[in-house]
Amino acid sequence: MTQVAFIGLGNMGGPMAINLVKAGHQVKAFDLSPDALALVKAEGAEIAQSAADAVANAEVVISMLPAAKHVLGLYFGEQGIAAGISKQALVIDCSTIDAESARRVGAGLAEQGIAFIDAPVSGGVGGAKAGTLTFIVGGDIANFKRAEAVLQGMGKNIFHAGAIGAGQVAKICNNMLLSVLMVATSESLQMGIDNGLDPKVLSEIMLKSSGRNWTLELYNPCPDVMETVPSSNGYQGGFMVDLMAKDLGLALEAATQSQSSTPMGALARNLYVAHQRSGHGKLDFSSIFKSFERKA
Ligand code: NAD
Repeated sequence: MTQVAFIGLGNMGGPMAINLVKAGHQVKAFDLSPDALALVKAEGAEIAQSAADAVANAEVVISMLPAAKHVLGLYFGEQGIAAGISKQALVIDCSTIDAESARRVGAGLAEQGIAFIDAPVSGGVGGAKAGTLTFIVGGDIANFKRAEAVLQGMGKNIFHAGAIGAGQVAKICNNMLLSVLMVATSESLQMGIDNGLDPKVLSEIMLKSSGRNWTLELYNPCPDVMETVPSSNGYQGGFMVDLMAKDLGLALEAATQSQSSTPMGALARNLYVAHQRSGHGKLDFSSIFKSFERKA
């Protein structure tokens, strides 16, 4: 049993913290949202009054926040908690942020003698709830091994990608690919519908054909093809368009720095930013399907 401070209890962090409680860890949780706190409290987590209160006696500190500015602010901002974390603790940031910011967090904590790994996740809200997330870790191998027992309480596959920041690089490569698959699956389904096909039948056919991919298997973007996915729930919950647009921005910044050619990622980013700008930022990212629908 480990004393875990968990900060950021949103769509992902909430169910992750609950799974740690179920795995027998002692979880002290904090979020700016009282509603998010109430959900984890109902499942047995202890509620902290502030982020500093959460980390006071923690052996492991986990953060799961929207973007780099929130993560840097949490540890090193005006009320930054870095100084209040035990030197024996391990800090694990599971947010998706740029690799450079992850390295800054690692360096800032190292100055205070605190160990750090970046451990962004893949698997979506479904994976967070089921405890089947994939963790992609960047950091010292010794710290990776220290983290494994806690990460196993929330995930099934735990990878070591390289030094601090490498987890973030692998994560944005994955999300760039995911965005392209989601856009391409959406346009294919809509073309089928426009030509008289039932999207359920078309999905079944493509699942057993060479177009098969994760979005068809687990996250069909067309409403009412699958029961428990955001598309069948008004595109609520899941992974917000705002966050996908952020990740694609990170991917293209990385591509610019490494002078990599990423034409599909660039197109997907433009489509997601246009979708965001037309008022869909808070919807799940599979709502890109709506942009291909014929308007009445
Ligand atoms: P979310 O917006 O649902 O949750 C973020 C939570 O952080 C909110 O509850 C917010 O109140 C809280 N928060 C913000 N600043 C805070 C602070 N200073 N102190 C305490 N709490 C604070 O976002 P999410 O979907 O849970 O995503 C979190 C991260 O995980 C993002 O970086 C995202 O890119 C990544 N991610 C999301 C998914 C997904 O499917 N949703 C999948 C993989 C990775």
